[in-house]
Amino acid sequence: MKMNNNISKNRAWVEINLSNLKNNIEEIKKIIPQETEIMAIVKANAYGHGIIEISKYLNEIGIQNFAVATLDEGIQLRENGIKGDILILGNTYIDNIKYVIKNNLIQTIVDYDYAKKIEKLKLEQKLRVHIKINTGMNRIGEKSTNIENIQQIYKMNNISIEGMFTHLCVSDSLEEKDMDFSKKQIQEFDNCIENIKKLGYNPGKIHVQASYGILNYSELKYDYVRPGIIMYGVYSDNQEVMKIKPKLKPVLALKARITAIKEIEKNESVSYGRTFIAEKPTRIATVGIGYADGYPRNLSNKRTKVIINGKYAEIIGRICMDQLIVDISDGIEANVGDIVTLIGENEISVENISEKAETITNEVLSRLGNRLPRICIYE
Ligand SMILES: *Cc1c(COP(=O)(O)O)cnc(C)c1O
Repeated sequence: MKMNNNISKNRAWVEINLSNLKNNIEEIKKIIPQETEIMAIVKANAYGHGIIEISKYLNEIGIQNFAVATLDEGIQLRENGIKGDILILGNTYIDNIKYVIKNNLIQTIVDYDYAKKIEKLKLEQKLRVHIKINTGMNRIGEKSTNIENIQQIYKMNNISIEGMFTHLCVSDSLEEKDMDFSKKQIQEFDNCIENIKKLGYNPGKIHVQASYGILNYSELKYDYVRPGIIMYGVYSDNQEVMKIKPKLKPVLALKARITAIKEIEKNESVSYGRTFIAEKPTRIATVGIGYADGYPRNLSNKRTKVIINGKYAEIIGRICMDQLIVDISDGIEANVGDIVTLIGENEISVENISEKAETITNEVLSRLGNRLPRICIYE
């Protein structure tokens, strides 16, 4: 039997604040044009937040469009009763296209060659697709100027085209050369759409902006925007340059419990490699969470903090797979079983934690482990 929803019995968990998620959706709606709809990006377990918990709630508050990275993520949404359109942003292995149809998902056409392979399949029904257009990211997508190839995709019998989209690669930067590049990407995409329309085809729903495209190019009027990280209430990093700064609230907190408390003497060491040596008698607490839960191991010995009963405590020694150790000498009241917050607000915001771990929040969040239950609160 799973005890997942009983906080009191968990060693470590992710706490999801659904009212903050609602706040962030409302903040995004204030920025985008009225006719534009949100396509919620819930790939990678909704950036570690719990794909089902997040998507169910988004459905409840009226979100009808979702995007995932993989077929399995799309099937998981359908199996849990998620309603609306679900776009798979990445490549689906050609033999599995039948499952895309069976689950009423929408496949991204990653390029003309991929479309040709789909056209060769024997399908019971047309495959619903959006065509990805490459305007400079050079990851996936048919090149925006290959109008002839794109036209051929429109003529295919196996494919029902419901949308076209591209992805910006420097929309987070307000430097002139980067803004020029983004504008060029947008122009190329618009030209491509115009050409397709001139040929008499309907491009369907068109979309361009991820989170930073929304914040820095809010004047654009497409059918959808594709927010990921800002929907979860955080920025990718601590860099503060952006045209619009909505009042986001972080949806996620990472919590665990103290599992043991002890006193060590001066010159005693803590954890693997003996990288921490006590300079004085030290009171320490072991916490039941480690790098296998997604808390980055490279935060070892970096004076990273956690919060225990309202006070900051420093992590000491190396972070282990399932446990870590903190210094609670400094007047911190702590008992076995007390709750430790590892990702929260202020000093331990996910932006600050990620900066210390030398990465972006998207990575830290999306790597939070599957063994952490996701516990939803609404306040
Ligand atoms: C992941 C992804 C997004 C969301 O990106 P954020 O920067 O987190 O908003 C949007 N579009 C595509 C194609 C993606 O792969």
